[in-house]
Amino acid sequence: MAVKPHQSRPPANVSSERAGRAKYPDVRNHVGGSFSESGNAFLDVHDPSDGSVLSRVPLSTQRDVEAAVAVAKNAAPAWAATPIKERVQVFFRYKTLLEKNIDSLAALITEENGKVASEARAEILKSAELTEFACSLPQIASGEVLEVSKGVECRIERYPLGVVAAITPFNFPNMVPNWSIPNAIALGNCMILKPSEMVPLSAGRIAELLREAGLPDGVLQVVHGGKEAVEAVCDSPGISAVSFVGSTKIAKVVYRRATATLKRCLALGGAKNHLIVMPDANAEMTSANVVASMSGCAGQRCMAASVMVAVSKTDHIIQKMVEHAKGIVPGRDIGPVISAAAKERIESFIAEAEAGGAKVLVDGRKATVAGKEGGYFIGPTIIDHVTADMRIAQEEVFGPVLVIVRAESVDEALEVENASSYGNAASVFTESGATARYVMEHASAGMVGVNVGVPVPREPFSFGGWNDSRFGVGDITGRGSIEFWTQAKKMTTKWNREAGTNWMS
Ligand code: NAD
Repeated sequence: MAVKPHQSRPPANVSSERAGRAKYPDVRNHVGGSFSESGNAFLDVHDPSDGSVLSRVPLSTQRDVEAAVAVAKNAAPAWAATPIKERVQVFFRYKTLLEKNIDSLAALITEENGKVASEARAEILKSAELTEFACSLPQIASGEVLEVSKGVECRIERYPLGVVAAITPFNFPNMVPNWSIPNAIALGNCMILKPSEMVPLSAGRIAELLREAGLPDGVLQVVHGGKEAVEAVCDSPGISAVSFVGSTKIAKVVYRRATATLKRCLALGGAKNHLIVMPDANAEMTSANVVASMSGCAGQRCMAASVMVAVSKTDHIIQKMVEHAKGIVPGRDIGPVISAAAKERIESFIAEAEAGGAKVLVDGRKATVAGKEGGYFIGPTIIDHVTADMRIAQEEVFGPVLVIVRAESVDEALEVENASSYGNAASVFTESGATARYVMEHASAGMVGVNVGVPVPREPFSFGGWNDSRFGVGDITGRGSIEFWTQAKKMTTKWNREAGTNWMS
């Protein structure tokens, strides 16, 4: 998609006034290597930093999805037959293109998602790291062979599934699509990407860069839209596997619907991550890490700190956290949240906790940025003396809000963590190796850390939570993704005539 200032004629279904307000032309689906006009209804895409209209995204229908699947199906045999060492050459070039275009790619993320420039750049670097892993798949995903009895050999070879799909959320417009695209495609699949309708522009750039890197037409399709497009992906008989990343509510819908048509599905959901802070923790490092974890990307990370369980005498650490949080300047260090509705939801969580007796130590509700009065800004907010039964301690807030629940012991802290229905991440801050090990063993989360605010496993390790943070088997990135995006063929052969006759004959 050419991301240029708006110049196209207004589409038939909106007024010329509305199309004229947008900075970019209408977003288009990318099918068979080119961008296609859509006759569908559109949704406005907003810049969350000032509320202005950036573009419009088409709401694709089942027909659009099926047309994209047909193109992908056509491309699938040739792509699957291309040796993996050749397939990954595309991704070596794609990684270079991500790095070369980091400024414009990061600027686009800032425009459509709101995160600040340093965070947007970090997102692109992470996309490059994910791609680097895909480049190593010929080494990592090679088959296995063993002589299992005299003259009899068993061999395992991995085959792609055919046409697969990825459905992605708004909070990482470039990185989360790249959780699935490089690995699934390098492993020989053709893909349909359905990005978030709130941040559709980055997906078009991904398709453009992959084409520039030499990806054959038809291997990746981008189909935009919302509920109808997602349902069509789940229902499509031509799609074999679906990865989903988003809220738990929709992860359950997608997992149930995709598996009802007998697809393979891995659906990552929301989170409520607990950081357990022990009294012996290093005060400076802990306070800086906890605040960075809860406020980074305006708290819109599925790995963000959400609940701090402060064990015993930790007031000196909390005091330092307050100082760190007050030093964060909205518009400079922290971007807006994604929408007016998100801002309202987050602020109502804070108000309810306050009304319930919790103490707001740092209040981000009045955040304003000069010249961006229409933006959806909320500053870092820290709320103390929250009780574990409050809604704000249990539900995903998805904003720059940290609640502090007090506990007397590490076991009491673990009880609070274990009671959560989610299970993405948990971390402990302590100087004691024994306490660290104890928490890592007993936290009910798929990704745990020690003295780390955001315990994201880096490749080749895989990303994935537990409980209501993930439905399906396995993980979405790293080595875990190889199993998900392929099927193993088990071959048993006998070439030695002296092998004799036994039960395998
Ligand atoms: P979302 O669930 O609203 O949307 C995700 C995708 O589902 C989008 O592509 C959207 O178009 C589609 N969708 C939305 N409503 C739908 C419906 N009714 N039927 C079918 N499809 C629908 O999530 P979001 O608001 O874009 O992203 C934020 C959420 O994603 C948070 O809950 C966050 O924790 C989660 N997330 C999780 C991870 C993880 O690894 N577990 C990573 C990133 C984000």
